[in-house]
Amino acid sequence: MSSTVSALPGAYDLVLKGARVIDPATGTDGILDVAVSEGKIAAVGPDLPCPPGATRLDLAGAIVTPGLIDTHAHIYEHVTGDFGLNADLVGVRSGVTTVVDQGGPSALTFNGFRQFVVAPAQTRVFCFISTYLAGGLLGHRYVDLYGPSGINVAAIVKTARDNPRLVKGIKAHAEPGGFSRWGIESLRLAKQAGRELGLPVYVHLGTLWPQKEGASVDPQTIIEQVVPLLDAGDVLAHPFTRYPSGFVNADGTIHPLVYEALAKGVTIDVGRGAHFSFDNARAVLAAGILPTTLGADLHGYNVKMPDGGRWYRGMFTNTAEMEPPEDASLPFSTPYGVHHAMSELIALGVTLPQVVAMATSNAAKLLRMEDRIGALKPGMDADISVFRVLKGEWTLRDSNGVEVVAHQLLHPERVVRMGRVIEVDSPLLPDLDQLAA
Ligand SMILES: [Zn+2]
Repeated sequence: MSSTVSALPGAYDLVLKGARVIDPATGTDGILDVAVSEGKIAAVGPDLPCPPGATRLDLAGAIVTPGLIDTHAHIYEHVTGDFGLNADLVGVRSGVTTVVDQGGPSALTFNGFRQFVVAPAQTRVFCFISTYLAGGLLGHRYVDLYGPSGINVAAIVKTARDNPRLVKGIKAHAEPGGFSRWGIESLRLAKQAGRELGLPVYVHLGTLWPQKEGASVDPQTIIEQVVPLLDAGDVLAHPFTRYPSGFVNADGTIHPLVYEALAKGVTIDVGRGAHFSFDNARAVLAAGILPTTLGADLHGYNVKMPDGGRWYRGMFTNTAEMEPPEDASLPFSTPYGVHHAMSELIALGVTLPQVVAMATSNAAKLLRMEDRIGALKPGMDADISVFRVLKGEWTLRDSNGVEVVAHQLLHPERVVRMGRVIEVDSPLLPDLDQLAA
Protein backbone atom coordinates (compact mmCIF):
# COMPACT_ATOMS: atom_id res chain seq x y z
CA MET A 1 0.00 0.00 0.00
CA SER A 2 1.35 3.39 -0.96
CA SER A 3 0.16 5.15 2.17
CA THR A 4 -1.55 4.19 5.38
CA VAL A 5 -1.55 7.73 6.76
CA SER A 6 -5.15 8.74 7.21
CA ALA A 7 -6.31 12.28 6.62
CA LEU A 8 -7.12 14.44 9.62
CA PRO A 9 -10.86 14.78 10.31
CA GLY A 10 -10.81 18.39 9.06
CA ALA A 11 -9.71 17.13 5.65
CA TYR A 12 -12.60 14.68 5.15
CA ASP A 13 -14.59 15.61 2.08
CA LEU A 14 -17.21 12.86 2.33
CA VAL A 15 -18.57 11.04 5.38
CA LEU A 16 -20.97 8.07 5.21
CA LYS A 17 -22.84 8.04 8.51
CA GLY A 18 -24.54 5.29 10.45
CA ALA A 19 -24.72 2.35 8.05
CA ARG A 20 -23.89 -1.25 8.88
CA VAL A 21 -20.35 -1.48 7.53
CA ILE A 22 -19.36 -4.97 6.36
CA ASP A 23 -15.71 -5.25 5.36
CA PRO A 24 -14.59 -8.89 5.38
CA ALA A 25 -10.94 -7.97 4.66
CA THR A 26 -10.66 -6.22 8.03
CA GLY A 27 -13.22 -8.33 9.90
CA THR A 28 -15.43 -5.27 10.32
CA ASP A 29 -19.18 -5.68 10.80
CA GLY A 30 -21.00 -2.98 12.75
CA ILE A 31 -22.73 0.38 12.74
CA LEU A 32 -19.89 2.71 11.80
CA ASP A 33 -18.97 5.76 9.76
CA VAL A 34 -16.64 5.84 6.78
CA ALA A 35 -14.71 9.00 5.91
CA VAL A 36 -13.17 9.76 2.53
CA SER A 37 -10.52 12.30 1.64
CA GLU A 38 -9.20 13.07 -1.84
CA GLY A 39 -10.51 9.83 -3.31
CA LYS A 40 -9.04 7.63 -0.60
CA ILE A 41 -10.52 5.94 2.47
CA ALA A 42 -9.51 8.20 5.36
CA ALA A 43 -11.08 6.50 8.38
CA VAL A 44 -13.60 3.88 9.49
CA GLY A 45 -14.98 4.23 13.00
CA PRO A 46 -17.83 5.30 15.25
CA ASP A 47 -19.05 8.91 15.27
CA LEU A 48 -16.57 10.38 12.82
CA PRO A 49 -16.89 14.16 12.54
CA CYS A 50 -18.26 15.68 9.36
CA PRO A 51 -16.42 18.96 8.79
CA PRO A 52 -18.16 22.01 7.28
CA GLY A 53 -18.19 21.76 3.51
CA ALA A 54 -17.90 17.96 3.48
CA THR A 55 -20.68 15.86 1.95
CA ARG A 56 -22.61 13.92 4.57
CA LEU A 57 -24.63 10.83 3.65
CA ASP A 58 -26.99 9.65 6.38
CA LEU A 59 -27.29 5.93 5.78
CA ALA A 60 -29.09 4.49 8.79
CA GLY A 61 -30.53 1.11 7.79
CA ALA A 62 -28.25 0.74 4.78
CA ILE A 63 -25.29 -1.58 4.23
CA VAL A 64 -21.91 -0.12 3.30
CA THR A 65 -19.25 -2.39 1.84
CA PRO A 66 -16.08 -2.00 -0.17
CA GLY A 67 -17.03 -1.32 -3.78
CA LEU A 68 -18.51 -4.49 -5.24
CA ILE A 69 -16.44 -6.27 -7.89
CA ASP A 70 -18.22 -8.18 -10.66
CA THR A 71 -15.64 -10.75 -11.75
CA HIS A 72 -17.56 -11.80 -14.86
CA ALA A 73 -19.29 -9.51 -17.32
CA HIS A 74 -19.32 -8.81 -21.04
CA ILE A 75 -18.80 -5.11 -21.66
CA TYR A 76 -16.85 -4.89 -24.90
CA GLU A 77 -19.64 -2.74 -26.26
CA HIS A 78 -20.07 -2.48 -30.06
CA VAL A 79 -17.06 -4.61 -31.00
CA THR A 80 -18.65 -7.79 -29.63
CA GLY A 81 -21.95 -6.76 -31.20
CA ASP A 82 -25.10 -6.84 -29.09
CA PHE A 83 -23.37 -9.27 -26.71
CA GLY A 84 -21.34 -6.46 -25.11
CA LEU A 85 -23.12 -4.23 -22.62
CA ASN A 86 -22.21 -0.71 -21.55
CA ALA A 87 -19.62 -0.85 -18.77
CA ASP A 88 -21.28 1.76 -16.56
CA LEU A 89 -24.77 0.23 -16.89
CA VAL A 90 -23.30 -3.01 -15.50
CA GLY A 91 -20.94 -1.14 -13.20
CA VAL A 92 -21.40 2.05 -11.21
CA ARG A 93 -24.97 2.67 -12.36
CA SER A 94 -25.86 -0.81 -11.01
CA GLY A 95 -24.06 -0.31 -7.70
CA VAL A 96 -20.86 -2.09 -8.74
CA THR A 97 -17.56 -0.20 -8.78
CA THR A 98 -15.33 -2.71 -10.62
CA VAL A 99 -16.24 -4.90 -13.58
CA VAL A 100 -14.10 -7.61 -15.17
CA ASP A 101 -14.79 -8.43 -18.80
CA GLN A 102 -14.36 -12.16 -19.34
CA GLY A 103 -12.95 -12.88 -22.76
CA GLY A 104 -14.36 -10.03 -24.84
CA PRO A 105 -11.10 -8.37 -25.89
CA SER A 106 -8.41 -10.41 -27.62
CA ALA A 107 -4.86 -9.86 -28.77
CA LEU A 108 -6.30 -8.58 -32.05
CA THR A 109 -8.92 -6.24 -30.62
CA PHE A 110 -7.36 -5.09 -27.36
CA ASN A 111 -6.59 -1.50 -28.27
CA GLY A 112 -10.25 -0.79 -28.93
CA PHE A 113 -11.13 -2.13 -25.48
CA ARG A 114 -8.58 0.13 -23.82
CA GLN A 115 -9.55 3.25 -25.79
CA PHE A 116 -13.32 2.91 -26.10
CA VAL A 117 -14.37 0.89 -23.04
CA VAL A 118 -11.82 1.33 -20.25
CA ALA A 119 -10.92 4.97 -20.89
CA PRO A 120 -14.41 6.53 -20.92
CA ALA A 121 -15.91 4.33 -18.16
CA GLN A 122 -16.57 5.73 -14.71
CA THR A 123 -16.46 2.11 -13.59
CA ARG A 124 -13.08 0.53 -12.86
CA VAL A 125 -12.62 -1.99 -15.68
CA PHE A 126 -10.29 -4.96 -16.06
CA CYS A 127 -10.34 -8.03 -18.25
CA PHE A 128 -9.37 -11.63 -18.60
CA ILE A 129 -8.13 -11.59 -22.17
CA SER A 130 -9.66 -14.05 -24.62
CA THR A 131 -7.64 -17.14 -25.46
CA TYR A 132 -8.85 -16.76 -29.03
CA LEU A 133 -7.72 -14.16 -31.55
CA ALA A 134 -11.39 -13.51 -32.34
CA GLY A 135 -12.31 -12.68 -28.74
CA GLY A 136 -15.94 -12.83 -27.68
CA LEU A 137 -17.52 -11.63 -30.91
CA LEU A 138 -21.32 -11.95 -30.72
CA GLY A 139 -20.98 -14.23 -27.72
CA HIS A 140 -18.73 -16.69 -29.60
CA ARG A 141 -21.45 -17.25 -32.18
CA TYR A 142 -19.26 -18.53 -35.00
CA VAL A 143 -17.79 -21.71 -33.56
CA ASP A 144 -15.25 -22.20 -36.35
CA LEU A 145 -13.35 -19.12 -35.16
CA TYR A 146 -12.55 -20.80 -31.84
CA GLY A 147 -10.36 -23.83 -32.57
CA PRO A 148 -6.65 -24.06 -31.73
CA SER A 149 -5.76 -22.63 -35.17
CA GLY A 150 -7.34 -19.37 -33.99
CA ILE A 151 -5.13 -19.20 -30.90
CA ASN A 152 -1.71 -17.54 -30.81
CA VAL A 153 0.03 -17.87 -27.46
CA ALA A 154 2.76 -15.34 -28.30
CA ALA A 155 0.13 -12.73 -29.20
CA ILE A 156 -1.72 -13.28 -25.90
CA VAL A 157 1.53 -12.98 -23.96
CA LYS A 158 2.59 -9.80 -25.77
CA THR A 159 -0.79 -8.10 -25.34
CA ALA A 160 -0.94 -8.97 -21.64
CA ARG A 161 2.61 -7.72 -21.10
CA ASP A 162 1.80 -4.49 -22.94
CA ASN A 163 -1.29 -3.96 -20.74
CA PRO A 164 -0.36 -5.24 -17.27
CA ARG A 165 -2.73 -2.89 -15.46
CA LEU A 166 -5.74 -4.15 -17.42
CA VAL A 167 -5.15 -7.85 -18.14
CA LYS A 168 -5.68 -9.86 -14.96
CA GLY A 169 -5.90 -13.33 -16.48
CA ILE A 170 -6.94 -15.40 -19.48
CA LYS A 171 -10.45 -16.57 -20.35
CA ALA A 172 -10.89 -20.08 -21.72
CA HIS A 173 -13.67 -22.64 -22.14
CA ALA A 174 -13.96 -26.34 -21.36
CA GLU A 175 -17.31 -27.54 -22.62
CA PRO A 176 -18.74 -30.32 -24.78
CA GLY A 177 -19.04 -28.41 -28.07
CA GLY A 178 -15.39 -27.39 -28.07
CA PHE A 179 -14.21 -30.75 -26.77
CA SER A 180 -16.11 -32.58 -29.53
CA ARG A 181 -14.12 -30.58 -32.09
CA TRP A 182 -10.69 -30.00 -30.60
CA GLY A 183 -10.44 -31.87 -27.31
CA ILE A 184 -8.51 -30.05 -24.63
CA GLU A 185 -6.03 -28.35 -26.97
CA SER A 186 -7.53 -24.83 -26.63
CA LEU A 187 -7.34 -24.98 -22.84
CA ARG A 188 -3.80 -26.34 -23.03
CA LEU A 189 -2.75 -23.30 -25.08
CA ALA A 190 -4.52 -20.95 -22.68
CA LYS A 191 -2.62 -22.53 -19.80
CA GLN A 192 0.65 -22.19 -21.70
CA ALA A 193 0.03 -18.44 -22.02
CA GLY A 194 -1.07 -18.21 -18.40
CA ARG A 195 2.06 -19.92 -17.13
CA GLU A 196 4.32 -17.70 -19.24
CA LEU A 197 2.58 -14.65 -17.83
CA GLY A 198 2.09 -15.90 -14.29
CA LEU A 199 -1.62 -15.12 -14.65
CA PRO A 200 -4.66 -17.25 -13.77
CA VAL A 201 -6.85 -18.95 -16.36
CA TYR A 202 -10.61 -18.64 -15.95
CA VAL A 203 -12.33 -21.78 -17.23
CA HIS A 204 -15.95 -21.68 -18.39
CA LEU A 205 -17.74 -24.98 -17.63
CA GLY A 206 -21.09 -25.95 -19.12
CA THR A 207 -22.37 -26.03 -22.68
CA LEU A 208 -21.50 -23.11 -24.92
CA TRP A 209 -21.49 -24.66 -28.40
CA PRO A 210 -23.51 -27.64 -29.64
CA GLN A 211 -21.46 -30.78 -30.10
CA LYS A 212 -20.08 -31.62 -33.51
CA GLU A 213 -22.26 -34.11 -35.32
CA GLY A 214 -21.00 -37.66 -34.97
CA ALA A 215 -18.38 -36.77 -32.37
CA SER A 216 -20.18 -36.73 -29.07
CA VAL A 217 -18.39 -36.20 -25.78
CA ASP A 218 -19.52 -37.41 -22.38
CA PRO A 219 -19.85 -34.07 -20.54
CA GLN A 220 -18.88 -35.66 -17.21
CA THR A 221 -15.44 -36.56 -18.54
CA ILE A 222 -14.48 -32.98 -19.36
CA ILE A 223 -13.64 -31.90 -15.84
CA GLU A 224 -11.46 -35.02 -15.50
CA GLN A 225 -9.26 -33.67 -18.29
CA VAL A 226 -9.38 -30.07 -17.08
CA VAL A 227 -8.38 -30.39 -13.45
CA PRO A 228 -4.92 -31.95 -14.00
CA LEU A 229 -4.02 -28.94 -16.19
CA LEU A 230 -4.93 -26.33 -13.58
CA ASP A 231 -2.72 -24.58 -11.05
CA ALA A 232 -3.46 -22.83 -7.77
CA GLY A 233 -5.22 -19.54 -8.51
CA ASP A 234 -6.92 -20.72 -11.70
CA VAL A 235 -10.70 -20.37 -11.69
CA LEU A 236 -13.50 -22.82 -12.43
CA ALA A 237 -16.63 -20.92 -13.47
CA HIS A 238 -20.34 -21.68 -13.57
CA PRO A 239 -20.46 -24.29 -10.77
CA PHE A 240 -24.26 -24.01 -10.71
CA THR A 241 -24.86 -24.34 -14.44
CA ARG A 242 -27.97 -26.19 -15.53
CA TYR A 243 -25.91 -27.82 -18.27
CA PRO A 244 -23.93 -31.03 -17.84
CA SER A 245 -20.12 -30.79 -17.60
CA GLY A 246 -20.29 -28.54 -14.56
CA PHE A 247 -19.80 -29.54 -10.93
CA VAL A 248 -22.97 -31.59 -10.67
CA ASN A 249 -23.31 -34.92 -12.40
CA ALA A 250 -26.54 -36.00 -14.08
CA ASP A 251 -27.38 -38.09 -10.97
CA GLY A 252 -27.09 -35.02 -8.73
CA THR A 253 -23.73 -35.96 -7.18
CA ILE A 254 -20.71 -33.67 -7.13
CA HIS A 255 -17.96 -34.72 -9.50
CA PRO A 256 -15.03 -35.98 -7.37
CA LEU A 257 -12.53 -33.98 -9.43
CA VAL A 258 -14.06 -30.79 -8.02
CA TYR A 259 -12.58 -31.65 -4.63
CA GLU A 260 -9.24 -32.35 -6.25
CA ALA A 261 -9.32 -28.92 -7.91
CA LEU A 262 -10.11 -27.22 -4.61
CA ALA A 263 -7.28 -29.09 -2.88
CA LYS A 264 -4.91 -27.68 -5.53
CA GLY A 265 -5.98 -24.12 -4.72
CA VAL A 266 -8.24 -23.63 -7.73
CA THR A 267 -10.97 -21.08 -6.95
CA ILE A 268 -14.62 -20.94 -8.00
CA ASP A 269 -16.53 -18.08 -9.61
CA VAL A 270 -20.34 -18.15 -9.58
CA GLY A 271 -20.71 -16.83 -13.15
CA ARG A 272 -24.46 -16.68 -12.60
CA GLY A 273 -25.43 -16.14 -16.25
CA ALA A 274 -28.53 -17.43 -17.97
CA HIS A 275 -27.99 -21.08 -17.06
CA PHE A 276 -28.29 -20.76 -13.28
CA SER A 277 -29.87 -23.74 -11.52
CA PHE A 278 -31.13 -23.54 -7.93
CA ASP A 279 -31.08 -27.35 -7.70
CA ASN A 280 -27.42 -27.54 -8.70
CA ALA A 281 -26.53 -24.62 -6.44
CA ARG A 282 -28.19 -26.42 -3.53
CA ALA A 283 -26.26 -29.62 -4.31
CA VAL A 284 -22.92 -27.78 -4.48
CA LEU A 285 -23.53 -25.78 -1.29
CA ALA A 286 -24.79 -28.87 0.54
CA ALA A 287 -21.48 -30.55 -0.31
CA GLY A 288 -19.75 -27.78 1.63
CA ILE A 289 -18.41 -26.03 -1.48
CA LEU A 290 -18.65 -22.24 -1.35
CA PRO A 291 -17.81 -20.13 -4.40
CA THR A 292 -14.81 -17.82 -4.00
CA THR A 293 -16.04 -14.95 -6.16
CA LEU A 294 -19.40 -13.88 -7.51
CA GLY A 295 -19.38 -12.86 -11.15
CA ALA A 296 -22.86 -12.17 -12.50
CA ASP A 297 -22.02 -12.89 -16.17
CA LEU A 298 -24.29 -10.22 -17.58
CA HIS A 299 -24.31 -9.83 -21.35
CA GLY A 300 -26.53 -8.56 -24.11
CA TYR A 301 -28.29 -11.89 -24.55
CA ASN A 302 -29.44 -12.26 -20.95
CA VAL A 303 -30.73 -8.82 -20.12
CA LYS A 304 -33.71 -6.91 -21.31
CA MET A 305 -32.74 -3.56 -22.66
CA PRO A 306 -34.82 -0.53 -21.71
CA ASP A 307 -36.02 -0.06 -25.28
CA GLY A 308 -37.98 -3.28 -24.81
CA GLY A 309 -35.66 -4.89 -27.29
CA ARG A 310 -33.97 -8.22 -27.18
CA TRP A 311 -34.54 -10.79 -24.51
CA TYR A 312 -32.44 -13.85 -24.16
CA ARG A 313 -34.34 -16.97 -25.19
CA GLY A 314 -31.57 -19.51 -25.21
CA MET A 315 -27.93 -19.84 -26.01
CA PHE A 316 -28.33 -20.79 -29.65
CA THR A 317 -31.43 -19.05 -30.90
CA ASN A 318 -29.48 -16.10 -32.29
CA THR A 319 -27.31 -18.46 -34.27
CA ALA A 320 -28.31 -19.14 -37.83
CA GLU A 321 -26.19 -22.30 -37.98
CA MET A 322 -27.62 -23.87 -34.85
CA GLU A 323 -30.98 -25.14 -33.77
CA PRO A 324 -32.44 -23.82 -30.53
CA PRO A 325 -32.42 -26.33 -27.67
CA GLU A 326 -35.62 -28.30 -27.08
CA ASP A 327 -36.58 -26.27 -24.08
CA ALA A 328 -36.01 -22.88 -25.69
CA SER A 329 -39.47 -21.81 -24.57
CA LEU A 330 -38.08 -21.47 -21.05
CA PRO A 331 -37.34 -17.96 -19.97
CA PHE A 332 -33.71 -18.91 -19.24
CA SER A 333 -33.29 -15.88 -17.03
CA THR A 334 -35.09 -13.30 -15.03
CA PRO A 335 -33.60 -9.82 -14.88
CA TYR A 336 -30.70 -9.98 -12.48
CA GLY A 337 -27.39 -8.47 -11.51
CA VAL A 338 -24.70 -8.85 -8.85
CA HIS A 339 -27.02 -7.92 -5.98
CA HIS A 340 -29.65 -10.34 -7.26
CA ALA A 341 -27.05 -13.13 -7.51
CA MET A 342 -26.05 -12.34 -3.92
CA SER A 343 -29.72 -12.52 -2.85
CA GLU A 344 -30.07 -15.93 -4.52
CA LEU A 345 -27.17 -17.34 -2.50
CA ILE A 346 -28.56 -15.81 0.69
CA ALA A 347 -31.90 -17.49 -0.06
CA LEU A 348 -29.98 -20.79 -0.16
CA GLY A 349 -28.41 -20.21 3.26
CA VAL A 350 -25.16 -18.37 2.49
CA THR A 351 -24.70 -15.43 4.86
CA LEU A 352 -24.59 -11.76 3.91
CA PRO A 353 -20.95 -11.34 5.09
CA GLN A 354 -19.99 -14.42 3.03
CA VAL A 355 -21.49 -13.06 -0.19
CA VAL A 356 -19.95 -9.65 0.52
CA ALA A 357 -16.52 -11.33 0.86
CA MET A 358 -17.02 -13.01 -2.52
CA ALA A 359 -17.77 -9.69 -4.19
CA THR A 360 -15.09 -7.65 -2.40
CA SER A 361 -12.00 -9.10 -0.68
CA ASN A 362 -11.95 -12.42 -2.56
CA ALA A 363 -12.46 -10.71 -5.91
CA ALA A 364 -9.70 -8.20 -5.17
CA LYS A 365 -7.36 -11.12 -4.46
CA LEU A 366 -8.23 -12.73 -7.80
CA LEU A 367 -7.26 -9.44 -9.47
CA ARG A 368 -4.19 -9.07 -7.23
CA MET A 369 -5.53 -5.66 -6.33
CA GLU A 370 -6.07 -6.21 -2.61
CA ASP A 371 -3.78 -3.29 -1.75
CA ARG A 372 -6.03 -0.89 -3.71
CA ILE A 373 -9.64 -2.16 -3.69
CA GLY A 374 -11.89 -4.71 -1.99
CA ALA A 375 -11.43 -3.32 1.55
CA LEU A 376 -12.11 -0.15 3.52
CA LYS A 377 -8.63 0.48 4.88
CA PRO A 378 -7.23 4.01 5.25
CA GLY A 379 -5.14 4.87 2.20
CA MET A 380 -6.98 2.57 -0.16
CA ASP A 381 -9.02 3.86 -3.10
CA ALA A 382 -12.44 5.11 -1.96
CA ASP A 383 -14.56 2.65 -3.94
CA ILE A 384 -17.63 1.92 -1.80
CA SER A 385 -21.03 0.30 -2.41
CA VAL A 386 -24.22 1.26 -0.57
CA PHE A 387 -27.22 -1.04 -0.69
CA ARG A 388 -30.32 -1.98 1.30
CA VAL A 389 -31.51 -5.39 2.44
CA LEU A 390 -35.22 -5.26 1.71
CA LYS A 391 -37.36 -7.53 3.89
CA GLY A 392 -40.45 -9.17 2.43
CA GLU A 393 -41.36 -12.04 0.15
CA TRP A 394 -39.76 -12.23 -3.25
CA THR A 395 -39.95 -14.93 -5.89
CA LEU A 396 -36.56 -15.72 -7.39
CA ARG A 397 -36.61 -17.77 -10.58
CA ASP A 398 -33.72 -19.71 -12.09
CA SER A 399 -33.00 -20.63 -15.70
CA ASN A 400 -34.97 -23.88 -15.37
CA GLY A 401 -38.04 -22.05 -14.14
CA VAL A 402 -37.47 -23.31 -10.56
CA GLU A 403 -38.67 -20.77 -8.01
CA VAL A 404 -37.37 -20.00 -4.53
CA VAL A 405 -39.04 -17.61 -2.13
CA ALA A 406 -36.55 -15.18 -0.61
CA HIS A 407 -37.15 -13.09 2.48
CA GLN A 408 -34.28 -10.71 1.86
CA LEU A 409 -33.46 -8.89 -1.35
CA LEU A 410 -30.34 -6.81 -1.79
CA HIS A 411 -31.11 -3.58 -3.56
CA PRO A 412 -28.35 -1.23 -4.72
CA GLU A 413 -28.62 2.45 -3.86
CA ARG A 414 -25.40 4.26 -4.79
CA VAL A 415 -21.66 3.87 -5.04
CA VAL A 416 -18.66 5.97 -4.20
CA ARG A 417 -16.06 5.69 -6.93
CA MET A 418 -12.68 7.21 -6.05
CA GLY A 419 -14.49 9.50 -3.64
CA ARG A 420 -17.27 10.56 -6.01
CA VAL A 421 -20.90 9.68 -5.19
CA ILE A 422 -22.87 8.11 -8.06
CA GLU A 423 -26.57 7.23 -7.73
CA VAL A 424 -27.77 3.87 -9.06
CA ASP A 425 -30.07 4.25 -12.08
CA SER A 426 -29.26 1.39 -14.45
CA PRO A 427 -32.22 0.21 -16.55
CA LEU A 428 -30.68 -3.28 -16.41
CA LEU A 429 -31.63 -3.72 -12.75
CA PRO A 430 -34.55 -6.05 -11.91
CA ASP A 431 -37.97 -4.54 -11.32
CA LEU A 432 -38.83 -5.10 -7.66
CA ASP A 433 -42.58 -5.18 -8.35
CA GLN A 434 -42.11 -8.13 -10.70
CA LEU A 435 -40.22 -10.06 -8.03
CA ALA A 436 -42.82 -9.56 -5.29
CA ALA A 437 -44.16 -12.97 -4.35
ZN1 LIG B 1 -19.72 -15.09 -19.70
